[in-house]
Amino acid sequence: MTAPVLLQVALPVPLPHLFDYLPPPGHVPGPGDVGRRVKVPFGSRELVGIVAGTGAAERPSAELRAALAWLDAAPLLGGELLDSLRWLARYTHAPLGETLATALPGPLRHGDPAPDTTSWAWRLTEAGLTALPSLRAGSRPRRLAERLAAAALAEDALDLRMEGWREPARSLARRGLAERVASEDPGAAPAPQPGPPLNDEQQAAVEAVAATAGFAPLLLDGVTGSGKTEVYLSAIAACLARGRQALVLVPEIGLTPQTLARFRARLGVPVHALHSGLAEGERARAWMAAARGQARVVVGTRSAVFVPLPQAGLIVVDEEHDGSYKQLDGIRYHARDFALVRGKALGVPVILGSATPSLETLHNARGGRYAHLRLRRRAGQAQPPAVRVMDVRKRALQGGLSLEAMQAIGQALAQGGQVLVFKNRRGYAPALLCHDCGWTAHCKRCDSAMTVHASGRRLQCHHCGARQPAPPACPDCGGLALQPQGIGTERLEETLAASFADVPVLRIDRSTTQRRDALAQHLATLGDAPGILVGTQILAKGHDLPRLTLVVVVGVDEGLFSSDFRAGEKLAQQLIQVAGRAGRAERAGQVLLQTHHPGHPLLETLIQGGYAAFAEAELQQREAAGFPPFAHMALLRAEAMHADPPMRFLHEAKAVILSLLPAAREEGVRRPDEGQPTIGIHGPLPAPMPRRAGYQRAQLILSAAQRRSLHAALDVLVTTLHASPQARRVRWSLDVDPVDLY
Ligand code: ADP
Ligand code: ZN
Ligand code: ZN
Repeated sequence: MTAPVLLQVALPVPLPHLFDYLPPPGHVPGPGDVGRRVKVPFGSRELVGIVAGTGAAERPSAELRAALAWLDAAPLLGGELLDSLRWLARYTHAPLGETLATALPGPLRHGDPAPDTTSWAWRLTEAGLTALPSLRAGSRPRRLAERLAAAALAEDALDLRMEGWREPARSLARRGLAERVASEDPGAAPAPQPGPPLNDEQQAAVEAVAATAGFAPLLLDGVTGSGKTEVYLSAIAACLARGRQALVLVPEIGLTPQTLARFRARLGVPVHALHSGLAEGERARAWMAAARGQARVVVGTRSAVFVPLPQAGLIVVDEEHDGSYKQLDGIRYHARDFALVRGKALGVPVILGSATPSLETLHNARGGRYAHLRLRRRAGQAQPPAVRVMDVRKRALQGGLSLEAMQAIGQALAQGGQVLVFKNRRGYAPALLCHDCGWTAHCKRCDSAMTVHASGRRLQCHHCGARQPAPPACPDCGGLALQPQGIGTERLEETLAASFADVPVLRIDRSTTQRRDALAQHLATLGDAPGILVGTQILAKGHDLPRLTLVVVVGVDEGLFSSDFRAGEKLAQQLIQVAGRAGRAERAGQVLLQTHHPGHPLLETLIQGGYAAFAEAELQQREAAGFPPFAHMALLRAEAMHADPPMRFLHEAKAVILSLLPAAREEGVRRPDEGQPTIGIHGPLPAPMPRRAGYQRAQLILSAAQRRSLHAALDVLVTTLHASPQARRVRWSLDVDPVDLY
């Protein structure tokens, strides 16, 4: 008798191997089982796994347990997506089972059956059209019927346009006045609206995309407001016309109802949204609709990069430099980078769009690996904003704002414009200080100051979320001279509201926009009238604010002197993006940059030469210092309640690397031309914030000029660490291509 064939199952557990199971009774496994979900016993639990392979048993079958049941008749994860995810598991050095689990929407991960993906629309019946004028004016059924009279509307479109539409819809249906139809039904999708005629640069970019055969990475490097989205829309329309699917990734805060509405209106097909604000069931439906080829266009945030695309034609990554594309826990993937891997496997073009491309992407474009498409001018009539640096050294500041800034704000308002005051710090003030003895309020669980909120009444830790009332007196000396130090958005709001009492002042930051549509609602209350927006980078993208004529940037100085080698890049991107909000329509825009360091090289280069000049200078510095994109990095982190175990664990890791590579040496990366490739080791050191949420944290940085040598070392390292007793005393994680070094 031949050995039984068994299933090699990837399970969502932190162990770096597959698990062997006998098939469910009565089933002979075959290659067609790869990618199917299967329920298996695991210890005393039951887990949902994915068959990653089949093979002959090497052990006696008596030692094997049998899988309990199949969850799918056909593979749920197959073809290109499964292959790409295998690549991702190898690249991140993460277990395949955890990687596959990350790619699946929650309900599918937990074993729910694949959901029904019919999408529904509503339309008025003949009777409904006739009865419309007799429905009570202003009533909800009447308002809904008026919307449906023009055209049938998909349920997701109704979700966007009319809150609580389901109840009046049912009431109309009961009376035979409206009906629910599958939205593939002709007439359910509105006809696509034409966009503006493209300018020459846009046209050239669209043609460059059309001219690609198979995989092609293209950087669409276009200044803010240059019409990048119009280029995407044209390329997507061409992709749809060829009968292919398109995937569009957008940053976490860029996926607004406004963005979706624009895509829906222009493309004339249902657009499936996929983001963290959706219910789990909706995410599973969008994912399955893509898998079944029903979803033609998927617009989503980071995790949308995992949708199956059986008929892929195009992938777009908008604002490719955005930090939200990097997953910061679990499987630490970068959605932009994985989009490129998938584009290559799928043989489709990948457009990376940005006004401020990441240095990684620019480096690839300069090296000729990516096509470099440029949009140098703003589209339509809009002019680039004029940027002016305001030196505030020795000037009196009122609540953080200089007299000059106040005057400029007053003038812009008087001319009927809107003003954005940007400060990348939430709260009232970054710290609370006792003026008598120097005490500052610190978080009990983190090595960090508490941020002052609620005009000084509350303290909050932005790292662990701890909150407490502000003390009435200094806990150390009993003095009453407690003073908020520095400026946050709340304090700016207070100052501005006091000075400009006759216009609305709206604060927009993570505290005021928990809900996805909150920002749109805030902006709607402002309308076209003069007013002031105070906010963090949430305001920097996604929303067109045609009345915005002045942007005041307050306090960029913290970012100028950070130890993180990416801080300059992030700051430059933020400044350009915020400045880009001004003057996007016919009104000219002005940007005031308030700083104590007007001569700082970063600001000088950025203002005189723009982002391109900044990037050029920064790339030279990175090359000289041996930092990415000229080297490849990995960060091994460890944390525990006490400081010792993480350090011991990381010292062991370091010893592993050193023993592997005789040529390894600390600090610094050897150039390829210096002979044998090697690994630079930095640390172990306590993390920049050593204690966070009660955990002591440490880290070890590895870098190499060649990706291959780094990954070869990581392979051995991770295998060793999984078997190490030290590893059981800490929480550890490996971050390949880390974005934040803490
Ligand atoms: P980006 O994505 O580069 O920020 P958008 O595509 O959002 O730019 O375009 C900015 C504004 O310019 C939008 O209001 C858009 O409708 C308009 N626009 C884009 N392309 C053109 C064009 N060729 N002619 C006129 N207006 C345009
Ligand atoms: Zn004190
Ligand atoms: Zn804390």
